[in-house]
Amino acid sequence: GHSSAAGTGTILVAAPRGYCAGVDRAVDVVEKALDLYGPPVYVRKEIVHNKYVVESLSRRGAIFVQDTEQVPEGARVVFSAHGVSPQVRAVAQARNLATIDATCPLVTKVHREAVRFAKEDYDIILVGHEGHEEVEGTFGEAPEHIQVVGSPEEVDDVVVRDPSRVVWVSQTTLSVDETRETVDRLRERFPLLEDPPSDDICYATQNRQVAVKTIAPRADVMIVVGSANSSNSVRLVEVALESGAGVAHRVDKADELDPVWFQGASTVGLTSGASVPEVLVRDVVEWLQARGFPTVEEVRTETETITFALPRNLRAQMAASG
Ligand code: SF4
Repeated sequence: GHSSAAGTGTILVAAPRGYCAGVDRAVDVVEKALDLYGPPVYVRKEIVHNKYVVESLSRRGAIFVQDTEQVPEGARVVFSAHGVSPQVRAVAQARNLATIDATCPLVTKVHREAVRFAKEDYDIILVGHEGHEEVEGTFGEAPEHIQVVGSPEEVDDVVVRDPSRVVWVSQTTLSVDETRETVDRLRERFPLLEDPPSDDICYATQNRQVAVKTIAPRADVMIVVGSANSSNSVRLVEVALESGAGVAHRVDKADELDPVWFQGASTVGLTSGASVPEVLVRDVVEWLQARGFPTVEEVRTETETITFALPRNLRAQMAASG
């Protein structure tokens, strides 16, 4: 297609997109902690993998640290949505830190599975990306039982003690299709491979991928709003390309968009990762509308209603402070 200067282009906006229940809760935890205790509130790692969110909370008095050791003795620290290993909890306790745990309950669920299967002495294959914070946390629950597998190709390197006691679990933010390939390869090698009790790839990751698959075939260009270290955002770019988008770009925000990307395009697909505030999507829509894409069409494939309660200790303190 061709978009004239007058503009006849269309923006297809995926729904669901943006904030999931776990991110919404984690950001809320830091905001509520700042309200309740006043700054500074320390946060271990990025509360969620989004630059804009981290910068906004920093301005309000959150101090982001890489390591629990960087938090002053006795201070208050929030654990991020991606979860922490038992070793991190032990360090926090040894340093007498007041902890508020913003780990997404759907990550905690995977931790529990890992702990249970380790107790039953399984070899656990953790499908996920080495070095990602969530994977570090889950791995730390049972390092002697878990091996991390990052792709179908890596399956060939897996060595287990007993092929009749092998189970897989996964990171919550993977590509559904690539994970299926990895698990199929695992099952070829270990026919008795057991599945986790329920999907580890979370509802939000799955829903955002389904929405992208639906619009990608119609999109000359796909834009995914999300940070480079956001696993689910990066997966959305891959899913868009695999599902027929002509090209796909990830941007943190509108000022990273390049007019050259849209030359000759008539339809732009747009979505955002689970850690991305809606304001960043609105900015992209406005940028595009000013450059030949006046029409906005939202394509909804699912309606999400799930929410998570704030951590118990934070709720109790909020109640106590009236
Ligand atoms: Fe939880 Fe899924 Fe959101 Fe991660 S992407 S915080 S697992 S709901």
